[in-house]
Amino acid sequence: MNCFEHKENSAVGICKACNKAVCSTCAKDTGNGLACSEKCEIEVSHLNQIVAKSKLIYNIGTNNTSIPSGILIHVFFSILFLGWSAYEYFATSRVNEFVLFMGLGFALMAIIMYRKLKKLNLNC
Ligand SMILES: [Zn+2]
Ligand SMILES: [Zn+2]
Repeated sequence: MNCFEHKENSAVGICKACNKAVCSTCAKDTGNGLACSEKCEIEVSHLNQIVAKSKLIYNIGTNNTSIPSGILIHVFFSILFLGWSAYEYFATSRVNEFVLFMGLGFALMAIIMYRKLKKLNLNC
């Protein structure tokens, strides 16, 4: 493949904005993709900005493995209530159904919230 503007030169890449082949003389490196002209250079920088902003909005590629705080609170309360009911069971050998129910309820909520987020793949 040869350059769109300079037919004699072989292309080194493709303009990110208009997809024309560019040679080393006319290619402008925007840092993230090649551009063939100043007009396309602006276009490419706009495209890059859009992609960067979308990534931020949707939390893509940030390797964000942290669990959203809403889920953490539910996990915390479920552990608290389950621990409480376990403690009562060992101390009095009776099951405090209310506390156990609360613990299971919070655990269930945390699982539901987590699954919902996984499905959407959004952390915002
Ligand atoms: Zn172009
Ligand atoms: Zn060229």
